[in-house]
Amino acid sequence: MSGYSHPYWLEVPALKGSPDKPQDAEIVIIGSGLSGVSTAYWLQEKGYSNLLLVDYEPEKAATFRNCGHILYGTVESMQALVALHGAEVASKLWSLSIDVCHEVRDTIRRHQIEAHYKQDGYLVIAIDESEEREIQQSIELLQQNGFASEYVTREQLEKKGFRNVFGGRFEPGSAQAHPTLFRNGLLDVCLKRGLKYHSGVRVEAVEEVGDKVRLKTTPWGSIEADAAVIAANAYSPLLSEFFARYRLVEPYRGQIITSKPLQHRFPVRFPHSFDHGYEYAIITEDNRLMIGGWRNRTEGGELGTYEINVNPLVELGLREFVENHYALTEKVEWEFSWSGIMAASKTGFPFIGPTDSQRIFTCSGYTGHGFSWAHGSAKILADIINGDPVPDIVREKCNPRFFI
Ligand SMILES: Cc1cc2nc3c(=O)[nH]c(=O)nc-3n(C[C@H](O)[C@H](O)[C@H](O)COP(=O)(O)OP(=O)(O)OC[C@H]3O[C@@H](n4cnc5c(N)ncnc54)[C@H](O)[C@@H]3O)c2cc1C
Repeated sequence: MSGYSHPYWLEVPALKGSPDKPQDAEIVIIGSGLSGVSTAYWLQEKGYSNLLLVDYEPEKAATFRNCGHILYGTVESMQALVALHGAEVASKLWSLSIDVCHEVRDTIRRHQIEAHYKQDGYLVIAIDESEEREIQQSIELLQQNGFASEYVTREQLEKKGFRNVFGGRFEPGSAQAHPTLFRNGLLDVCLKRGLKYHSGVRVEAVEEVGDKVRLKTTPWGSIEADAAVIAANAYSPLLSEFFARYRLVEPYRGQIITSKPLQHRFPVRFPHSFDHGYEYAIITEDNRLMIGGWRNRTEGGELGTYEINVNPLVELGLREFVENHYALTEKVEWEFSWSGIMAASKTGFPFIGPTDSQRIFTCSGYTGHGFSWAHGSAKILADIINGDPVPDIVREKCNPRFFI
């Protein structure tokens, strides 16, 4: 196994900022993953030009460590969403999730970003009978609300190369892309428009002081701005007293392994998942099987850690999972293994808007579905900052001040 905790996606190096001391700016954005870069992008679209983007150890960001899925919905099935929040909220949330996925597609098209984007669907696969029943209920609820979703039989799944499975749900609108290429491509657009970007700035604290926001940083001391955006996702509680006090997000470690290029072509190339989404997979452009998950089988569920080393038990579990559920005709050789830190939202909704200060904003907390939500939430955040209208569901459910 080469590349210890080195993600396959970072074979394309992440664009990094200048190591020089940043200057004060109108708005400073903390974090250069998909949320931070997207916030810069959408604020520039609104005409904001004096923006400063800062990050610390950017390669550790979840943005470069995910599975490339751009999925309709949230981490919960439609059946679970209805049970948790009621039919109306579930339906509005699902619609919004579709919008945020389409924002990624439209941005890629608008700027012709070469990010291997494909809108080729998503397959949710049951590995036991109770999950299969949940999938059928979700399909019914989705169809009742006018969302496209189809049942896939066990026999059809077996023909597609899976085994020990119990039926599934195909959802045609979801997509996939290379996360580093997307983030770098978008960042490049922002840099050409004048974004100031500095790497290696660890923000220790952010606070409102008079009519300014002050960031305490290492090694550069204080930076001042008119406003700040916390786009540090799971890391937000480490630099924001507000996040720490209300425990808006909890970090948890996700882990992925990726094979060497397969000799044969596996029929399902698009995003798919098993076991309520706990295992998730894709076939890369160069024909590698990438699969992540298994954290629910570990003691403690990999919660509460910021260490991005790999857990050998998870690695082993994922390899065995592939042997049990993929009918491959060749021996798989594993080449990459890495982990990354996601942010579980306390409410199950992302947080978008002002924190306890009207000058300090955030977009964060996507519980494993951040590829689309980060880009789409950042667009909504730019609307909020600019005083533009936002969807009801965002005002009602995504308000970071919910707990104050
Ligand atoms: C294993 C794994 C698999 C996943 N799979 C998927 C998937 O297939 N599809 C999907 O939609 N989502 C997936 N996700 C989730 C998705 O990757 C994240 O939700 C998304 O990347 C979050 O982006 P972000 O910009 O908010 O945060 P991050 O990408 O984590 O970026 C955080 C940023 O904050 C900066 N930062 C942190 N602390 C400081 C500090 N003190 N000072 C300055 N800067 C700081 C970092 O440098 C970084 O730039 C997965 C995540 C993981 C870990």
